[in-house]
Amino acid sequence: MSTQPEIKFTQLFIDGQFVDSASGKKFAVVNPSTGKKLCEVAEGDKADVDKAVEAARRAFKLGSTWRTMDASNRGRLINKLADLIERDAEYLAALETLNNGKPLAEAQFDMVCSINCLRYYAGWADKIHGQTIPADGNIFVVTRKEPVGVVGQIIPWNYPVLMCTWKFGPALAAGCTVVLKPAEQTPLTALYLAQLSVEAGFPPGVINVINGFGETAGAALTNHQNVQKIAFTGSTEVGKLIMETAAKSNLKRVSLELGGKSPIVVFPDVDLDTAVTTCYNAIFANMGQCCCAGSRTFVHEDIYDEFVKKATAMAAARKVGNPFDEGVEQGPQVSEEQHNKILELLESGKAQGASVTCGGKKWGSEGYFIEPTVFADVTDDMRIAKEEIFGPVQTILKFRTMEELIERANNTYYGLAAGVLTNDINTALTFAQAVEAGSVWVNCYDATMPQTPFGGFKMSGQGRELGEEGLHHYLEVKTITIAIPQKNS
Ligand code: ADP
Repeated sequence: MSTQPEIKFTQLFIDGQFVDSASGKKFAVVNPSTGKKLCEVAEGDKADVDKAVEAARRAFKLGSTWRTMDASNRGRLINKLADLIERDAEYLAALETLNNGKPLAEAQFDMVCSINCLRYYAGWADKIHGQTIPADGNIFVVTRKEPVGVVGQIIPWNYPVLMCTWKFGPALAAGCTVVLKPAEQTPLTALYLAQLSVEAGFPPGVINVINGFGETAGAALTNHQNVQKIAFTGSTEVGKLIMETAAKSNLKRVSLELGGKSPIVVFPDVDLDTAVTTCYNAIFANMGQCCCAGSRTFVHEDIYDEFVKKATAMAAARKVGNPFDEGVEQGPQVSEEQHNKILELLESGKAQGASVTCGGKKWGSEGYFIEPTVFADVTDDMRIAKEEIFGPVQTILKFRTMEELIERANNTYYGLAAGVLTNDINTALTFAQAVEAGSVWVNCYDATMPQTPFGGFKMSGQGRELGEEGLHHYLEVKTITIAIPQKNS
């Protein structure tokens, strides 16, 4: 496998073509494993967003190729895109690892999940339908589910390809046209997908990709009068801004998938080694850069000390290094900013009295690596127990009773996910029903699949992605009421 996959596309993708930005500006894309510049990409801002939205509007016009296409053919195009990702999965995974820093095996798994997501939504394209409704009077009533129109999609850097497919899949199945803004840290794979969309045969303007920064390109998209919906994945802070801007501009529809501080809970009746492994994967996967990471590990007091010992040993054995190297489990954090934020939170944990049983510092001398870290004796008031760290940092808290646990697990503004590990069905269901979270995993964690809705309670978001629920945000319901001479039952 090449550790230097060729970077083939660095411009903006508008109306089926790669073009420079109107301003001619570019910005650097960095390799997080070294901290060095990989390449420069075109920097889009308002002028480019305007052009892309115009192209997406043309593609969405009544009578256009896209609007008149059979829904089954939309499904075929989405399937074709999935096939092309599958064909080029090795290359795409390598490009993802280069730009994002995730271990190659994780990037390869992301490609599988991305392909599955597109295929799932491809199947929906010709199965989206309304109702006939027996309303009062001499009338005949049907509802139609219509695409909302031009959609802005703003995604983060933690799963660049996967997030594209979570966004493209339902939007395209519904018949919308799309302007996607990848995260400024990780634009490269989204641009390659743009090229694949040409090869798949999507009409020009259906998919557009604008690289750029949040405050410029992202804000222009969110503020745009001709964008009918924004789908956003990112921080809660920016999610609030998106909603505000959407409301102030044209009341565009908004779906938000935001941060989390998700509890994963271990009861004493489980197999301890299995539980330690599940909790380890829940937090350390993808360098902890997962919105649903199990970032508060609650362990019952009867097994707490033993759990901490085993969790520490497991984290200490985690292999950190060049994400292209065979067997490496942890690469760098995505950026210097994230790396520094995590180091600052690690210091806060130490200062507030948590015990570092493993790691706790920067790893190596170049790039943005952090040691796999375990904090024991963590209490609810510590910053590391309250704030989203988004790093390879396990915080282990102790609990005694279910009542206390539920109170503490819910004592957060977030509500994205939760896990409960127990062999007692009553314990599992009591917790699953009481916890304020969009996904609850019992005896597993992060079991996210295209078929099942995903999203947050409280400040973890609005709406759901994936599954049938994920389609609704891309659809308007139109009620057509037709007067008839006489109805019959
Ligand atoms: P993170 O802190 O994890 O980088 P952000 O929420 O800052 O997450 O970024 C997620 C995405 O939102 C990125 O594509 C980023 O460019 C974009 N973004 C950031 N600020 C804004 C904004 N004010 N308006 C629209 N998009 C934004």
